[in-house]
Amino acid sequence: MEAKRRKVVIVGAGSVGTAYIYALLQTGLAAEIALIDIDEKVVAGEVMDLSHGLPFIPPVSIHAGDYSDCSDAHLIVITAGAKQKPGQSRTELVKDNASIIESVCGQIKGQPTDAVLIMVTNPVDILARVALDCLGWPRERVLGSGTVLDTARLKYMLSRHCQVDARNVHAYVLGEHGDSEVVVWSMAHIAGVPIGHYCRICQGCDARQQHKRIAEQVRDSAYHIIDYKGSTYYGIGMSLVRISGAILRDERSVLTVSIKLEGEYDIDGLCLSVPCVVGENGVEQIVDTRLPDEEDKALRASANVLQNLFKHISD
Ligand code: NAD
Repeated sequence: MEAKRRKVVIVGAGSVGTAYIYALLQTGLAAEIALIDIDEKVVAGEVMDLSHGLPFIPPVSIHAGDYSDCSDAHLIVITAGAKQKPGQSRTELVKDNASIIESVCGQIKGQPTDAVLIMVTNPVDILARVALDCLGWPRERVLGSGTVLDTARLKYMLSRHCQVDARNVHAYVLGEHGDSEVVVWSMAHIAGVPIGHYCRICQGCDARQQHKRIAEQVRDSAYHIIDYKGSTYYGIGMSLVRISGAILRDERSVLTVSIKLEGEYDIDGLCLSVPCVVGENGVEQIVDTRLPDEEDKALRASANVLQNLFKHISD
């Protein structure tokens, strides 16, 4: 991709937006980064602080931006909005953040752009759908970070438990980025060996019990982090760099981003996470496969949770 196209616009200069930029800068993936927030002083401060590290990293220009920056951007990442308070679920944030996202997307819509947009603000699946409706772009170009972070947490926890390099662990969390998310054990494997078979060879634990424990830990991770330190930002920052790399380098990586389904997995009209091939145009392909009955039922239950929540904000 030409240098001028490797431009990333970030809307939201809070903990998540800046953790993402900090991680992105180290990679040399972006040639230009524009930062937008309603709080212009915070933007000025963050841009100054981050710029002072430029002598140590690959060349990149970083500056305070406005919505006209979207016109030649390849990637727009939205992290603007309120975050979860201790004990608060992601879904409880919905009404406040939906109106912020409508206002942000209303301003992006005025720009002639063929960028891919990544929604990060929670509840991310609902807000990806709000953004899609507001922008009217093809669904492939509006994705949510979805369960990319949850999938990373699952890989990390499985790798720790099985004492295998996380890069040799392949496993996915699908559905809502939230309490109803689904660990699809049928798709999990270590070094190409399906997890059920791997556990039989290893015999190091009561696999059923441990899988249940790990799935619960993955689901509850954000609550624990928020309880300990107020908010989560490094893990999501690195997850966003992974998604950005897939887009900016046209990697065609399989990632569990949130995308509006139109009949795939027999779900229609909702954004939620399923395995997707991600490349320069956003979601290049949805990996639509048949899940075992129990996982299929859990994915539908997750879709129902999102459907009810979406109805709640549309009322
Ligand atoms: P934060 O409070 O630190 O930052 C939010 C920023 O948004 C603030 O700087 C605020 O000024 C800005 N903002 C608010 N309204 C705006 C508007 N209309 N236009 C432009 N900027 C606006 O919050 P954070 O910790 O960075 O979290 C941001 C969001 O990301 C939250 O919704 C949080 O729940 C979510 N999050 C998502 C994931 C995920 O996996 N998807 C993970 C962690 C956090």
